[in-house]
Amino acid sequence: MILELEKELTPEGRTQLIRRLKAQRCDCRELPAVEGTQRIGILGKAGMSEEEIGRLPGVARVVRVTTPYKLVGRQMHPQDTLVRVRDVLVGGENLCVIAGPCAVESLEQALTIAREVKQAGATLFRGGAFKPRTSPYSFQGLEEDGLKILAEVRETLGLPVVTEMTSPSQADLIFKYVDVVQIGARNMQNFELLKCAGRMGKPVLLKRGLAGTIEEWLMSAEYILSEGDGQVILCERGIRTFEPYTRNTLDLSAIPVIKKLTHLPIVIDPSHATGMREKVSPMARAAVAAGADGIMVEVHHDPPRALSDGAQSLYPAQFRQLMRDLYVIAPVIGKRLDFSHMDRVRTIGRRAQEAGNAKPRAGFMGRIGSFSHKACQQYFADAVEAVSLPTFRSIFAAIREGRIDYGVIPIENSLSGSIHESYDLLREYDLRILGELTIRITQNLLARPGAELEGIRRVLSHPQGFEQCRRFLSQFDWEQVAVSDTAAAAERVRDEENPALAAIANQSAAEHYGLTVLVPGIEDNPRNFTRFVVVGREPIEPRKATKSSLLCSARNEPGALFSILEVFAANRVNMIKLESRPIPGEPWRYLFYIDVEADLEAPEMDAVRRAIEEKSEFFKLLGCYGNG
Ligand code: PEP
Ligand code: MN
Repeated sequence: MILELEKELTPEGRTQLIRRLKAQRCDCRELPAVEGTQRIGILGKAGMSEEEIGRLPGVARVVRVTTPYKLVGRQMHPQDTLVRVRDVLVGGENLCVIAGPCAVESLEQALTIAREVKQAGATLFRGGAFKPRTSPYSFQGLEEDGLKILAEVRETLGLPVVTEMTSPSQADLIFKYVDVVQIGARNMQNFELLKCAGRMGKPVLLKRGLAGTIEEWLMSAEYILSEGDGQVILCERGIRTFEPYTRNTLDLSAIPVIKKLTHLPIVIDPSHATGMREKVSPMARAAVAAGADGIMVEVHHDPPRALSDGAQSLYPAQFRQLMRDLYVIAPVIGKRLDFSHMDRVRTIGRRAQEAGNAKPRAGFMGRIGSFSHKACQQYFADAVEAVSLPTFRSIFAAIREGRIDYGVIPIENSLSGSIHESYDLLREYDLRILGELTIRITQNLLARPGAELEGIRRVLSHPQGFEQCRRFLSQFDWEQVAVSDTAAAAERVRDEENPALAAIANQSAAEHYGLTVLVPGIEDNPRNFTRFVVVGREPIEPRKATKSSLLCSARNEPGALFSILEVFAANRVNMIKLESRPIPGEPWRYLFYIDVEADLEAPEMDAVRRAIEEKSEFFKLLGCYGNG
């Protein structure tokens, strides 16, 4: 059951209440507060009746948990859980890719594959050291030697490692060498093993059994959670059906079901689900589109000679192609896959820590829940403190004055084009572009819980929000009130307690301000993406770039722009953006925004950069960045 506590209850009162409950053999669990209400969970049979508990001082209400799984369900824990594996976050907006061979066969094999998958963007490495094989005569795994190899892969490449535990007797060894403990499909209901995994204090990846129902699977996760505060990642890997063509039948519909029932993240294993290499990528793509938090894929550099599951292992080139496809699919469903910059982002956090400084700070425009906030979170995760600032200019000024270290600003939108204010500030301030990310812009009509569409009279948003939802808004006769950002609109709707008021904003603003989504996806064009750039005083080391952005203006003479572009053409530098815009205050003179696929600060590009500079009247390199 869940105890909702009285608003006025002091921390001492809460401690006392827990002491009284424990004296009555109640298994109490701390629960996250919901809309400001503090809560305590009680598991199993208590030595007191529900009525007696309800009468204890400090208890406002007792709520029964209606599902057999308690800690796993959304009643006790409504918010999505983010599972942390060292620096890698699984769940939320992160798309996690776990890859590696079915079994660790040698150090050389593991390192070769790990290098390939890391290079392509995988964030966790997986390999079996204790293999549950159908035949006792098949390769059973390298056991402790395999675990040592996994640990060496982690040390060499910095990829956290996942491996399967098949017996509680392996717990000490596995604890010593790996980061995530996998419970295999055959062991989903091996309750002693589940309890043991729960006590290890490491994240557990729990596969669904070959014939396990979703409820049984969640009950198994409950075993793990009930043993401690271990975090669980669920893994659907196909179930047994009457269909013999594929090894198993991948239950993709488990994804939305799981998302509704539990706060735990879910990853999909298309390798064991299909058993055939050429079926793996289509199912992985479908899983991501269906909202999975990640995929777990078997990859081998020499599948015909693999000691297990060669037929379903992707060749590295196939894995790279899959990653390229997922990179495109991920933003469509609001997820981020490109973590190549994360190594450097973490370095800045670590350096600050070593120097005894506070966490670095990154500014974004608007309130919590705005698109800029989302971009800031997606880029930096929790490596920095995100700071809300009122205007783009205040972000630039704060960086210059050293009050914050970085800024995340929108630079262009796929529908409305470049955001000139950002370019103007980049021209004016001596800051550099250090990185970029693109997020999909989806708009929703939000209102207070209980409000109805028929009752809405006034709608609040950023002017861009109205612009993007013109077709939807044309159906109504609502007054439109422009505010500074979409999250500010959501905040006002929450504060004004008026059911006739609605906001146009994103899903996270709804969650953050406790509003309901009256109508989702109301933007006219679903192909609406905004590219954000990260700006700062100096590059994040170690420096790496595949792209450069620059501003220039051409002389007022025939062929001036052509002569600039000719330099790129002659040096085979691919230009991916060219836009002209009037220079403010100088009628009929134009500034060019140019992006090229090259690192113009690399020594071999020196001559190119100087040639462009010479041929331009005004030239400013805004930054070299991209791909880590
Ligand atoms: C594995 O992950 O290599 C494995 C044996 O999978 P499952 O438990 O899903 O069969
Ligand atoms: Mn396998």
